Amino acid sequence: MKYCSECGASVTLKIVESDHRNRFICTGCGLTHYQSPNVLVAVYVCTRDKILWIERGIPPAKNLWAIPGGYMESDETPAQAASRELREETGITIAAEQMILVSVSTILHMAQTHLVFRCHLKQIKTVEETPEATNHGWFSEENAPWEKQAFPSIEPQIRQVYSWLASGDYGIRVGVVDESGSQYQNYPLANY
Ligand SMILES: [Zn+2]
Repeated sequence: MKYCSECGASVTLKIVESDHRNRFICTGCGLTHYQSPNVLVAVYVCTRDKILWIERGIPPAKNLWAIPGGYMESDETPAQAASRELREETGITIAAEQMILVSVSTILHMAQTHLVFRCHLKQIKTVEETPEATNHGWFSEENAPWEKQAFPSIEPQIRQVYSWLASGDYGIRVGVVDESGSQYQNYPLANY
């Protein structure tokens, strides 16, 4: 960060009284700019043993396969963000109330928090091609495009959801990812 988003003056890094770490402080208006992680949402749209994957039409990982998702906006809940991203990328409308939390991930080296949902359809819905998602498929675990996946580091999460789909016995997966790998724990829903 170089300039204040409020007044346009330059910012400087310093520790202010009663704080414990460097913050960007505006040299003009004095505002402290806190650096918070970005929140991303994604959604597994499931039908029987299949999950909706999309081929990404935009970078990063253009032309590779992922589950629908994107950045949360400041005027919506995580479930609303998941519903909106799904609609924008695939044309599928599924209400926020039908989104069920399935994982919370902290991606330390990218300063991101991922809130991921699942929802379940009795039958496949029609998917529209969009600039963000130029192709799609409803894939079982055996047929999923593992060789062309956009974000290989989340493959264990996707495989976990397939496993839960097979057993019908869901949980919530909570974990941390950094450059050296990932550590996750599954919490059975019965514990909540
Ligand atoms: Zn300022």
